[in-house]
Amino acid sequence: MTDIIHLLPDSIANQIAAGEVIQRPASVVKELIENSLDAGATHVILSVKDAGRTFIQVIDDGKGMSATDLRMAFERHATSKIRNVDDLFSLTTMGFRGEALPSIAAISHIEVKSRRKEDELGSWLVISGSKVEKQEIVAAAAGTSITVKNIFFNVPARRKFLKSNETERRNIFTEFERIVLVNPDVEFTFIENGVETLHLPRTGLRQRIVQIEGKNTNQQLIEISEETTLGKIYGYITRPEFARKGKVNQFFFVNNRYIRHPYFHKAVTTAFEPLIAATEKPGYYIYFQVDPDTIDVNIHPTKTEVKFENEQALWQILMVTVKESLGKFNAIPTIDFDRDDAPEIPIYNPSHSASMPKVNIDPGYNPFHSHRAETPKPVTPVFGWEQLYKGFEKDSSSTLFKPAENDHNLPETELSPEHYQYKQKYILTSVKSGLMIIDQHRAHVRILFDKYLEQIKNKRGISQRVLFPEVLDLSVSEAAALPSILEDLEALGFELGDLGNCSFAIQAVPSEIENTAPAPLVRSMIGKSMETGSDVKSEVQESIALSLANMTAIPYGRTLTAEEMLLVVSQLFASPSPTYTPDGQVIISVVSDAEIEKKMQ
Ligand code: ADP
Ligand code: MG
Repeated sequence: MTDIIHLLPDSIANQIAAGEVIQRPASVVKELIENSLDAGATHVILSVKDAGRTFIQVIDDGKGMSATDLRMAFERHATSKIRNVDDLFSLTTMGFRGEALPSIAAISHIEVKSRRKEDELGSWLVISGSKVEKQEIVAAAAGTSITVKNIFFNVPARRKFLKSNETERRNIFTEFERIVLVNPDVEFTFIENGVETLHLPRTGLRQRIVQIEGKNTNQQLIEISEETTLGKIYGYITRPEFARKGKVNQFFFVNNRYIRHPYFHKAVTTAFEPLIAATEKPGYYIYFQVDPDTIDVNIHPTKTEVKFENEQALWQILMVTVKESLGKFNAIPTIDFDRDDAPEIPIYNPSHSASMPKVNIDPGYNPFHSHRAETPKPVTPVFGWEQLYKGFEKDSSSTLFKPAENDHNLPETELSPEHYQYKQKYILTSVKSGLMIIDQHRAHVRILFDKYLEQIKNKRGISQRVLFPEVLDLSVSEAAALPSILEDLEALGFELGDLGNCSFAIQAVPSEIENTAPAPLVRSMIGKSMETGSDVKSEVQESIALSLANMTAIPYGRTLTAEEMLLVVSQLFASPSPTYTPDGQVIISVVSDAEIEKKMQ
């Protein structure tokens, strides 16, 4: 019998290795740009087509490769970056395994042109599925240009595994963002389907963050900086009032490499804890420079998890540093405080004598007996009241106190007309079997969610053009996510004009939110859709509707008139599911007569 064990051909071995290093177009982008940076590039041009599926090109002005090195670069474990085991522990480059180029070459059509400055001519190499098709001496610009076409052309299973273009595009931006945030002194150009979408000139760290996250980020940043024997910690955190509920930018980098670090994340959130609500998240861009000997970057193949030798001590230092910067910032008043919502404090005038505040009560007033026109009420349209009233007028003739004929799983259908608002948070009303408690904010979220979702699905939103379009400065990753939800935003009534470089003018808004600042709304909807990370249209639409509903619904702490309460209740019961918000929070609770009786015994 013959022996049965044999070595795999290189092409197959490379394909297997590729599985670990190259999962998607974004991995190719990452590996290629990191190589350019390792080669000392000062300008990197990234160009992609079809979210990287058919075309990814990285051109740099780095040190280039000789003809022999270029050929060698595609052999497995061929690297210029380490020579012995010790080198592994003192790495200052991004790459070191010598796996990226052979892995990419195993699963795509690749073409490289490279020339060292000192050489007159460069070389040109064409490889397809690990097979060298061509190598020639050619005239070439100094530096390296690598073109990767048709990724996974020979691995259908992998190709099928790729997500939608929007998702793959977003992944590319995410990798790009992580790289440019640690290389402010390098110029980057991003070209998408032949159009230059982003140009980042060389600059400092703060400005690079602003270039990539949008102009209005600048005023949000507080600097942190600390140097100890364990290393250096520096970067920026966002001012506490800019903490957000949705997606925020939270970046850690160590020795210029993006890392995830849940333990250090806790240090930052601990420092922010007393200053922000538990549901809000602070943004941060935090950079560690430590002796490469004291970290282990080898524990994860894509290298986003890093183990620190002095983790606990660094935790403390980080926490204190962030705390101190927050304190310093709070102690120094700045002139650009947003005072728009601050209460007016009247100037004290000693010549005027103080008088008791008066309250006028109309004891005969009953909102349920009088006609609306006779009892005009100030209506603030900010929270979608206008829309609420529209519904009211339509239904007022009959079903006001009766829920629609839906299966509400409610103990009760007849609602009594007495309403009482408790602590500006709950609407209390008696029903046949007891006392019904309705959460005012959640109820309105349900009402608005139903309405917005219907508008998105049927493209029924009514658009209102704005006189002075607000400019929305998005981060690169937000701008990348926008096209996937643009149609839904337009269905709601938003209209955005592209101003280039990730800025958009909000030219029209849904008519019912006319008086709400639209930029935070749009940003939140983009953020939510990114968090959902789903390719399923209906899920994304729901996340958009919910985020808009959450932001425009009646807040807690708002006094409601009897009429407004009535409207909320009647519209709530027109919903097919009035008992829970779309994200599963309780809207209605009933305390039964029996429970009340028992308490009173
Ligand atoms: P690694 O980066 O881990 O060394 P790669 O497969 O990514 O492995 O690259 C192999 C080698 O090819 C590198 O060590 C480097 O010498 C060379 N190389 C790759 N890309 C470039 C580039 N853009 N400019 C100059 N040299 C490069
Ligand atoms: Mg590399």
